[in-house]
Amino acid sequence: DPQLNHIYTFDAFIEGDCNRVARRAGKTVAEKPGANSFNPLVIYGGVGLGKTHLAQAIGNEVKRLNPNKVVLYVSSEKFINQFMDHSRNNAINDFIHFYQLIDVLIIDDVQFFAKAEKSQDAFFAIFNHLHQSHKQLILTSDKSPKDLDGVQERLLSRFRWGLSADLQIPDYETRIEILEKKMKNDGLEMPKEVVKYIAYNINSNVRELEGALISLLAQSSLNRREIDLDLAKKVLRNFIKSSSKEITIDTIQRMVCEYFDVSYDKLLQKTRKREIVQARQITMYLAKAFTKNSLKTIGEHFGGRDHTTVIHSCQTVKDLMDTDTVFRENVLELQQKVQLAAM
Ligand code: ADP
Ligand code: MG
Repeated sequence: DPQLNHIYTFDAFIEGDCNRVARRAGKTVAEKPGANSFNPLVIYGGVGLGKTHLAQAIGNEVKRLNPNKVVLYVSSEKFINQFMDHSRNNAINDFIHFYQLIDVLIIDDVQFFAKAEKSQDAFFAIFNHLHQSHKQLILTSDKSPKDLDGVQERLLSRFRWGLSADLQIPDYETRIEILEKKMKNDGLEMPKEVVKYIAYNINSNVRELEGALISLLAQSSLNRREIDLDLAKKVLRNFIKSSSKEITIDTIQRMVCEYFDVSYDKLLQKTRKREIVQARQITMYLAKAFTKNSLKTIGEHFGGRDHTTVIHSCQTVKDLMDTDTVFRENVLELQQKVQLAAM
């Protein structure tokens, strides 16, 4: 299953108070897909808290225990795009039929179904068929189903048939465990006081925690310097917003242009060439992550695009990072360059 990333396993997903219910429900679902009372399983929570990881871990575990099961992981955006392609080609029935053959359907970030009425109709038909056939549905969302504005009530009521479990920000002890697990998986070591320092100071989400770890490792190898508390303090300045140097949207734009060898003008123009579109989306994503500018301001720096374009771009980058290894490496490398510029 190319849609599943094998690094996202249960073993790599540290359990804590923040995610216990969701993680355990996920295990049950993986062991008995379709034959449990958590159907659908809805995993919800803020950005970087492990929704994609956990949802994919379920898919990977199903395949490990039962290789014959057909598991499909898809983001709601991809689902919508596929639906629109089929719709244009008068092939909606093929589309629905394809999805009805799946044993375990994982749809990530269903909040993007908001207002996509036709796609919701198709999903409604697919949901009903799969549920009636005792197939498993796993959904993730950045909000609780009750707060999912723009999603049809008949779908929301079905989301409530199973279990909705949330993911919270991990507490300090769990953050330490997560860091130690990542280090162990990558064969890395660092003094415990550094691990504690990171875990103590980075308390927003797990993705940030990983970002801090990656930057620290990058700085250590770049400067041929052992990881110690001094280096950690220097690197984490960029994560702890108050004391970091200001990075501007313009700086990020120029760095991305240089990295992808794209002209500055092209980046801002309306060209739809794929490389340029991706470079532009990554730039918006980095601008959102590393500057304090509003979505509106970021959009304005790209030839007057509006904030929804910026939201869409950030989400596309996150999705691609989950599924495309080369893309992910490009973004991480750029991320390091931006962090470096902030020091
Ligand atoms: P979301 O989809 O909610 O935005 P992700 O699933 O992409 O978040 O998680 C962000 C990063 O944090 C991923 O690299 C993931 O492996 C990691 N992560 C999240 N929660 C945990 C956890 N409990 N244990 C280990 N790693 C975690
Ligand atoms: Mg995600």
